[in-house]
Amino acid sequence: MKIMVLGAGVVGTAAAYYLAKDGHDVTVVERHADSAMGTSQSNAGLVSPGDSTAWASPAALTTFIKSLYTPGLGIKVHFSLDPQFIIWTLRFLAQCTTARAHANTAVKLRLAFYARQCINEISEATGITYDERRKGIVYFYRSQASFDAGAKHMQFIADRGLEIEIANRDRLVEIEPGLAAVKDQLAGGIYSPMDQTGDSRLFVRSLADWSSKNLGVKFVYDTTVEGLDIEDNAVRAVKTSKGATPCDAVVLSLGPESGLMGRKLGIDLPVYPVKGYTATMPIGGNEGPTMGGVDEDRLIAYSRLGNRLRMASTAEFAGFDRSHKPSDFNALFKTAHDLFPGLIDESKAELWAGFRPMMPNSVPVHGRARYSNLYLDTGHGHVGWTMACGSGKFVSDLVAGRKPEIDPQGLLYQN
Ligand SMILES: Cc1cc2nc3c(=O)[nH]c(=O)nc-3n(C[C@H](O)[C@H](O)[C@H](O)COP(=O)(O)OP(=O)(O)OC[C@H]3O[C@@H](n4cnc5c(N)ncnc54)[C@H](O)[C@@H]3O)c2cc1C
Repeated sequence: MKIMVLGAGVVGTAAAYYLAKDGHDVTVVERHADSAMGTSQSNAGLVSPGDSTAWASPAALTTFIKSLYTPGLGIKVHFSLDPQFIIWTLRFLAQCTTARAHANTAVKLRLAFYARQCINEISEATGITYDERRKGIVYFYRSQASFDAGAKHMQFIADRGLEIEIANRDRLVEIEPGLAAVKDQLAGGIYSPMDQTGDSRLFVRSLADWSSKNLGVKFVYDTTVEGLDIEDNAVRAVKTSKGATPCDAVVLSLGPESGLMGRKLGIDLPVYPVKGYTATMPIGGNEGPTMGGVDEDRLIAYSRLGNRLRMASTAEFAGFDRSHKPSDFNALFKTAHDLFPGLIDESKAELWAGFRPMMPNSVPVHGRARYSNLYLDTGHGHVGWTMACGSGKFVSDLVAGRKPEIDPQGLLYQN
C-alpha cells in the first residue's frame, strides 16, 4: 500500500519505520526543513516506564486549581476563554478520580514497557546510537512526606512489572554519586534500573536517514499538510502546500497540532499543547550525573546525553505560544546549580520551549478514526519519546490487520 505518514517527529518516524518494514511504500510529510523540529527536538530525554503515570489524578486536581492563583509552581495555567482549552480542562477534570488515574496509568505502562523493548530492538537492528544510557533513572524526594507518597505510588507501577529499589539517602548516593553534593537535602529516592535515557532528535534523524536508505521511506520536508481528500468514506489523497498526493492509507502523527487537524477533519481528537522548557549544557566527561533523574518536589527532570546535560521543567497551559524568555529558566538553572554545583555554565545553554501533545486522560490514541483508511498515532503527552516506538509497531500491526503484540484495550480511538 502507499501510506502517507503526517509528521516527522519521533512518533511519525517510528511508525514509518515499521510500516516500511512491512513492505509498504511510505512517505512522511513534514512542514519543517528536517525531522524532529517539533516536540521531539529537545525533550528531557527520559525513556521511562517509571514516569508513565497519568497526569490526571486527585492530587493533580488540587495542583491544577492551586496553579490558577499561585505563581511560581511547576504547573502554570493561564486561564483562557479558548473553547478548546475549556473543553480539554473539563475532560481532564473528569479523569481526576483515583479509579481513572489507575486505569489510565495501567494502559500507559503496558505501552511504555512494550515501547522500551521496541526502541532497543530498533537500535540493535539498525545500529543507531543516540547518546543513549541504559543505566536507569533515579526519582528523588526532598521531604519524607513526598518520599513516602512517591514510594506508595511507585509500588503501583512496580506491581505491574517495573523493577524498583527504594533507597535511603546513603544508598541513593551510592547508586548515583552525581547527587553527593545534595545528599543531606534529600529524604531518599527510588531507583528504576529499567528506565533509560537518550537524545530523541538524534534518534529520529538517524532513524529517518536509516529508513530512507534501507527501507525506501521518503521524507518530504518544507511541506505543510492542509487536509485530506475524502471520497466514499475513505482518504484518497493528502492535500499539502505543494499539491495533493494520492494514497491508500494515512497515519496522522502531527504531535501537538493533531488536535487542530482533527477539528478540520471532523474528528474528536482533544490533543492540547502543554508547554515545557529545556536547557542543554555542555559538561565534562567524568562530571555530573551518571544517569537520568527526576527532582520530584521541584518537578524537574534531567538526562545526561553524552557530554551534555539536558534539564526540563514546567507544564504550562498557554496555547500555542512558543516564545520563551530568560526568566522561564530560572527554576531550572537554580536546581542545576543546587544539584550539581560548579557543573554548568548558563551562558552556554541552548534554550528551548516545546509542547507536550496531551490528551485529557494522558493516554495516546491509535487506530482507525472516522474514515476507513485513516489511522491515528498521536497524543503521547509527557512520555511520547518513551512510547513512540511501541506505538509505531502497534499501528503497523493495525494497518496490516495483524493481532497486535500487546493488548489494545484502552489504546484505540473510540468515538
Ligand atoms: C519540556 C518537555 C519535556 C519532555 N520530556 C520527555 C521525556 O523525558 N520523555 C518522554 O518520553 N517524553 C518527553 N516529552 C514528550 C515528548 O517529547 C513528546 O510526547 C513527543 O516528542 C511527541 O512526538 P510527536 O512525534 O507526537 O510530536 P512532534 O515531535 O511535535 O512531531 C509532530 C510533527 O508534525 C509536524 N507538523 C505539525 N503540523 C503539521 C502540518 N500541518 N503539516 C506538516 N507537518 C506538521 C511538526 O512540525 C512536527 O515535526 C517532553 C516534552 C516536553 C515539551
